[in-house]
Parts: sequence; C-alpha cells; structure tokens
Amino acid sequence: MQQRHVMRLARPGVPLEPCDEALPAPGPHQVLIAVAACGVCRTDLHLCDGDIPARYPIIPGHEIVGRIMSVGGEVSGLAPGDRVGVPWLGGTCGQCGFCRSGRENLCDAPSFTGCTVDGGYASHCLADARYCFAIPPEIDDVAAAPLLCAGLIGWRALRLAGQGRRIGLYGFGAAAHLLAQVALAQGREVHAFTRPGDARGQAFARALGCHWAGGSDEAPPAPLDAALIFAPVGALVPLALKAVAKGGRVVCAGIHMTDIPAFPYADLWGERSILSVANLTRDDGLTFFAAIAAMRVKAVTHVFPLDEANAAIAAVRDGAIDGAAVLVP
Ligand SMILES: [Zn+2]
Ligand SMILES: [Zn+2]
Repeated sequence: MQQRHVMRLARPGVPLEPCDEALPAPGPHQVLIAVAACGVCRTDLHLCDGDIPARYPIIPGHEIVGRIMSVGGEVSGLAPGDRVGVPWLGGTCGQCGFCRSGRENLCDAPSFTGCTVDGGYASHCLADARYCFAIPPEIDDVAAAPLLCAGLIGWRALRLAGQGRRIGLYGFGAAAHLLAQVALAQGREVHAFTRPGDARGQAFARALGCHWAGGSDEAPPAPLDAALIFAPVGALVPLALKAVAKGGRVVCAGIHMTDIPAFPYADLWGERSILSVANLTRDDGLTFFAAIAAMRVKAVTHVFPLDEANAAIAAVRDGAIDGAAVLVP
C-alpha cells in the first residue's frame, strides 16, 4: 500500500508530530495531490495555540502547491499531472444566503484547508477540485505557495481598502511583503510599520521599494488613505486609526487579534472606518492570479524541510525570517 508522510497537530499546545499513513483516495469531487511546497501562515500559529476553532487532530497547511496524482469521478477540468494551488477556502455549502449572494467567504458551513479538513503539511493531500486554482506557469512552486493565503488574503484586504493612494501596512511579514509589491505596482505609495526597533524588517521593506518604513508607534510622514493590519495585535487598531486621514479605512486582515483597547470617538470621527477581512472567495483568487501575472511580484521565501515544520513555525512566531516560510516535503 502506498504511504504518505505528514506532520500532524494532535491538539493545541503540543509540537507537530511526524507520521506515516496510508495514502487517502479522493472522493467524487476531490483530487489527490503530490505536494511540492506548502507555506506557513500565521493562522497555523493560531491553530497551534488554540486561538481559533479547528478540528483536532489536524494536518495544518493552506498554502499548497502540488501536482495532481488522481481525480475523483465527478471532477472535470483537471487531470493527473496538472499543477494546482490549494487555498484556505476548502469548500462552501452553496446554499446559504452568503453563498447565494456572492459572499462565499462568509458561508455558514464552510470547510477550511488545514483547519477543519487536513491540509498540506504532508507529502500528499486531498483537496476539493472546485476550490483549487491554476497558478501562472512563470511562478515556481516555492514562490507560489505564500501567494495562496498571504497573497490572496492580502489582495482581498487591499480591495476592501479602496482606491486610496497612500497605504500603510502594519506587520511586515509574509502577507505585507507581497502586498507592498502589488500596491507599488499599482502606483500607490506604501508605508511599512514594523515592531518598534525592528531595523532589519524596516530595511527589508525599503529594499522592496516601500516609500517609508518605521515602527508601529511612529506616525507616517503624511496621513494615510488606508491602513492594512496583518499583525495579530489589537493595540494597532487605534494607532492605525490615528494614522489615517478623514474617510480613511483601517482593514484588519488577520483571523485572530488580541483585544482592541478603547479609544476616543474623535479618532473614528470624519468617516473613518474599521473593518475585517474574512477568508476569500474564488473570485478573489481568479482576479489575484490574473493581476499578479503581469506584476512580477516575487515572494521572498525561506525553505524548511517538512519534518522541520516546528522550527518553521517558531521562526515565523519570532519574526526571525524576512518574507515567508515554506515547507518542502
Ligand atoms: Zn454557504
Ligand atoms: Zn493563511
């Protein structure tokens, strides 16, 4: 019997453990994928910490790039050998009011890859073919992996941020380093906010072309049109609100955040708004991959062997790497 190798999280608060098990067979709408690369997302840290609802034990990983080995009986349009990307949105009900109004990201009965269904910290994984994306051929497997959540969720956050020219990015990790490149390609002015004193992170942001980089406790040189918050730190919300101009938007892009401290209503006044981004729609993926094909967005990646998933998670947690961590089986 063919085997697969996986890294499994038994429950919050313990390390992931390596495990070999029988290769699963795809269901009617599923494809079996040989994983080439899987990104490490901050959400995976929240899974390890028990911050978000999830099914345990779980194989994490929702930034998967791989090649199809076999397809279920109902799959159309995909065949063995095809390269696909598997994102966070693993499935939706198709029936609820959100699904039927073009907001499947808010579905009442969703599946989330590497959270409620097993993901890509593995040599092989299953995915629902209807939620997989084609990836532009010029992007290699490792560079494509972080696009599937960091890039995509960032893209949705940028769409919700509106057309403003002067953008601030709070938390300059995997998502922000991709979004900075997208926003710069769109002709926007990008301001990067890191942990106070993080000179290395600020230099990284400037090297990518950001117009300004500083600590999250600093004011930008001019008021922002929109601020996107990628760090899971609620205290950044009132800080970002102070940094945006009248009519400015503060978009919270993470799945989990510490509590937001109280702030004066005057800081919200002037038609400023605070909103969150939840998940993604398949349309976000289609527009994102179409847009970046022409933008030369380049993910900065740090590759870890699959069996070093715990070290990769620790590196992301510590802010020890620039860009994105990617696991390779
Ligand atoms: Zn639904
Ligand atoms: Zn993610």
